[in-house]
Amino acid sequence: MPAPLYPQATTAAEITANLAHINARIAAACAACGRDAASVRLLPVSKTVPAERLHYAYEAGIRLLGENKVQEAYDKWQALADLDGLNWAVIGHLQSNKVKYVARFATEFQALDSLEIAESLDRRLQQEGRRLDVFVQVNTSDEPQKYGIAPDEAEAFIRALPQYNSLRLRGLMTLALFSDDKDAVRRCFIRLRELRDCLQQQNPAVAELSMGMSGDFELAIAEGATTVRVGQAIFGARRTPDSEYWPGLVPGGH
Ligand SMILES: *Cc1c(COP(=O)(O)O)cnc(C)c1O
Repeated sequence: MPAPLYPQATTAAEITANLAHINARIAAACAACGRDAASVRLLPVSKTVPAERLHYAYEAGIRLLGENKVQEAYDKWQALADLDGLNWAVIGHLQSNKVKYVARFATEFQALDSLEIAESLDRRLQQEGRRLDVFVQVNTSDEPQKYGIAPDEAEAFIRALPQYNSLRLRGLMTLALFSDDKDAVRRCFIRLRELRDCLQQQNPAVAELSMGMSGDFELAIAEGATTVRVGQAIFGARRTPDSEYWPGLVPGGH
């Protein structure tokens, strides 16, 4: 199977057209499994897309952007500060020395995987007088190099979070296996959903499932995704290999 091609979207009209296409695919995926299309939120992912081009994303109606790397996100937040109501979600692994930046500008952090980070985020957020929506990242593929807590650590992890008042727990996030084997990918999504169902009984805040990207969001929706994180299918193919973002991936190997 050849890799899907994602042409570059460099104008507001092209981004608008891609968004309409993705939204139609989301609606169709929802219809196919009897879900309401309004139950799935599209998070456009803008990593490697330069700030100038993101003006067009804003023109196309986008008000939330996801970025994997904190420094890149922070620089774009500063460069685009004039765009009223544009919010930022950090979706990549966070190192403790970058916590202060996230606390300053992000409205959402989707890769929470350590209590140490939770504690220092909470402390910084209190200084900033801000709150932050968080998703706990779970490693559902059992790949040792992947970020995220193990599924069997999730219960204790979630139980420890309420002490951090500035963090508003929203749900779980995962990156599925990078594979052409759809069943293997699907198993990751099922695993996150089952974990959510279980944890939600003790803590209703564990409600959302952030899963699915350009190549697999329809499958994720079929398994219950409430947020899909889509970059290349909106903005065009990235030149940066995914191994930049996910340790252990073979460059060009996915
Ligand atoms: C880049 C990225 C995505 C989106 O991937 P695309 O292939 O561009 O759709 C989703 N989640 C995370 C964590 C990412 O870093």
